[in-house]
Amino acid sequence: MPSRSIRARSRKSEGRPGARAEGLALGIDLGATKVVSGLVAPDGRIVRHSGRHVHANDGPGGVVRTLVRSARACLEETGEPPVAIGVAVAAQVDPRTGTVVHAPNLGWRDVPLARRVAEELGRPVVVINDARAATVAEWRHGAGAGASDLFCLVLGTGVGGSAVVGGRLLEGGSYALGEVGHMTIVVGGRRCHCPNWGCFEAYVGGWAIAERAQEAVRADPGAGAPLLARAGGAAAISAQTVFQSYRAGDPLAGRLVRETERFLADGAVSVVNAFNPSLLILGGGLISGMPEFVPVVESAIRARCQPPAAGARVEVARWGEDAPLVGAATFAREHRPGGDSSRRRVSPTGARSSASAASSRSSPSPASSSPP
Ligand SMILES: [Zn+2]
Repeated sequence: MPSRSIRARSRKSEGRPGARAEGLALGIDLGATKVVSGLVAPDGRIVRHSGRHVHANDGPGGVVRTLVRSARACLEETGEPPVAIGVAVAAQVDPRTGTVVHAPNLGWRDVPLARRVAEELGRPVVVINDARAATVAEWRHGAGAGASDLFCLVLGTGVGGSAVVGGRLLEGGSYALGEVGHMTIVVGGRRCHCPNWGCFEAYVGGWAIAERAQEAVRADPGAGAPLLARAGGAAAISAQTVFQSYRAGDPLAGRLVRETERFLADGAVSVVNAFNPSLLILGGGLISGMPEFVPVVESAIRARCQPPAAGARVEVARWGEDAPLVGAATFAREHRPGGDSSRRRVSPTGARSSASAASSRSSPSPASSSPP
């Protein structure tokens, strides 16, 4: 996988004279069960990686302690502090304050994450939504380098996305723009994990593929025998089980894959019609597990999108699981206090060159460890 080779190269570069300590930014990816941190060079290389630190998801106090341990595992051997610190989290984040407004996986509401981490590490901290961070990684250092209009569609257990339009990373009125996993693709369709029915994610999210497969097996245990045998029980059937069984020639898994292709094509066509990206980047476990989905999406876009949008290029994300970490570090580097993001003509959050950029809602104010 490309991300592995990037990381392997990066690790080999540890201690290389070219990796200047003063140029390294710390990126932290806070997930539902684990934290990973990395020191990221200006060109996006990870020059030090913390590995996984599992947290108990036992409230902000305990999770922040694990996060700080992960960060220190990266920082303790470097001679100089990082130029910036960014945290990516699967949550609605207020970029002005670094507050986690709502993180369903962590069960958090209104947690001042940037301030709490800054207090521990003694440095300013920027917090960014993880899908947006992954998009920044691809935009700055990956498949989207040089593009000014792209949509990054992440197809994993859940389905998320983030848009760059006219060189601006879009946030939305409550910092939730790009939740295309929850656009309705089937009227009166399957129940989603969100308040809606018939969502894109409720058909092509990893959890939904597993659910559809389990229902199919329970409805026809004879046809489901290969899936049952592979998983060891209906409840243990996952999306990966379906893909493996499909490759082994199982007809039921084949039917599930073909259905998934149709839902995926429907969703991707809607995304491209809505956002008119020059480039659609596809990432996440669904794409790494079934790269065959990529040409299906591409031909659906060519055949079914509005003519002006139908020319969108389709690329596979270059970064894998480290995308949020790299994107958070990159985003923090570009928005560090005293940095030049407010003077750039175009910045990732869309803070354009003006004195008012500092007060713009989309221009984050890193929480500082010391009051101004
Ligand atoms: Zn939904």
